[in-house]
Amino acid sequence: MATTKKWTFQWKELYDEVITSGLCTGCAGCVIACPHDVIGYEHAPGAYKPFHLEEELGLSDCGHGQKGCTSCTRACPRFRDWETEADNHLFARPRNDDEMSGIYKDVLLTRASDDTVHQLGQDGGLVSAILIWCLENKIIDGALTSHLEASSSEDITNWKAVPALATDRESVLAGAGSRYTYSANTLAINEAREKNLQSLALVGMSCQTSIGPVMWHRRVGKAGKPIKLNIGLLCSKSFDDSIFEDLFWAKYGLPKEDMVKMNIKGVFQIWMRNGDYHEINLKECHEWTREGCNHCPDFAAEHADISTGGIGENNDWTLTIVRTELGRQIIMKMLEEGIIEGRPGDSDPGAIALMHKLSAKSRSRWPDWANPQPRSGLEVRAG
Ligand SMILES: Cc1cc2nc3c(=O)[nH]c(=O)nc-3n(C[C@H](O)[C@H](O)[C@H](O)COP(=O)(O)OP(=O)(O)OC[C@H]3O[C@@H](n4cnc5c(N)ncnc54)[C@H](O)[C@@H]3O)c2cc1C
Ligand code: SF4
Ligand code: SF4
Repeated sequence: MATTKKWTFQWKELYDEVITSGLCTGCAGCVIACPHDVIGYEHAPGAYKPFHLEEELGLSDCGHGQKGCTSCTRACPRFRDWETEADNHLFARPRNDDEMSGIYKDVLLTRASDDTVHQLGQDGGLVSAILIWCLENKIIDGALTSHLEASSSEDITNWKAVPALATDRESVLAGAGSRYTYSANTLAINEAREKNLQSLALVGMSCQTSIGPVMWHRRVGKAGKPIKLNIGLLCSKSFDDSIFEDLFWAKYGLPKEDMVKMNIKGVFQIWMRNGDYHEINLKECHEWTREGCNHCPDFAAEHADISTGGIGENNDWTLTIVRTELGRQIIMKMLEEGIIEGRPGDSDPGAIALMHKLSAKSRSRWPDWANPQPRSGLEVRAG
């Protein structure tokens, strides 16, 4: 159902209700939607926020907004009734109170059949397998993903996650695996626009996967059109980049240049180049939780076509939540062609139960003073 009331909200309302209220996740939806290019993005540690580039009306107002431009609020997946609108757009109904992890069709465990994809992937390598398969079958012509920032040496990274456009197997695999700091993958759309790509997949944490459905519902115009496939990463938080210096190095003497892999499975796991393995208690890491995550209510990437996670009893399978018909068609076809292996989600009921529990936990962070819908169902659960 499309919005019928006249939508008049501009940067001024976004600034007051989302950016300075603590709801802003730093997803950069507003940045890519702005037709006048007057919204910048601060990537620095402690920031990850949009800001207005024109100074004449101060930080909190926009001259184009005063003349009627509303694109930024139309694109923001934390503005007003974003959850119901995105639900209605994708599923033609809002989620029920008992649907803590959002609306979905199927839950599976999957992994890439190709050994290289599987090994480079964080869990089962499903996300990379989908991107490669969709690129090779021309379902998409590019994917908005995340890479590690280039450094002078091929083997050494500074672990700075940055948005990156992937257009082939090699560039997809260059981004495989998870970094637990923030990358506003949406911003890779600038390179896709330069290349005139028309059919994109967006890979992103939960906050980023609501951008497309909210934009489409609120009719933002051409900014939302190229995003055709939405792949979500389950997420309870991401960390500020300063965690590398202030905790891993300062307290544990672990230089980021020597880290080769990291994961979160109850603890923060870090593998080093010399084969050493370290576990750091997550409670110690809490202080470095990125500010934008503190009020985030969406653990399960509820508005993706396919949401993916690493919870469960087996490390090398991806928990796969299929939400839309498009998501189902892609997974079915990939299974049929043997590109991925799959087994029923019911074979690991603990993983599904944990997803619902973590989803409820994230919803409880959404503040009482904001739109009530994301907290809906919490009381029912508690009772
Ligand atoms: C910050 C973060 C927090 C997460 N928290 C959880 C959690 O609490 N519970 C859970 O079950 N799963 C969580 N995940 C998801 C999980 O780590 C895997 O990404 C997911 O299971 C897919 O695995 P895969 O092997 O299929 O993906 P892969 O084939 O490894 O592909 C992963 C994709 O994620 C992209 N990516 C990697 N890091 C980032 C980043 N920082 N920002 C944006 N995109 C990125 C890559 O570019 C790649 O396209 C989290 C992921 C991230 C990035
Ligand atoms: S949540 Fe995203 S779209 Fe909304 S103000 Fe923040 S960066 Fe912009
Ligand atoms: S918790 Fe994850 S999904 Fe939510 S704002 Fe933080 S990074 Fe985004």
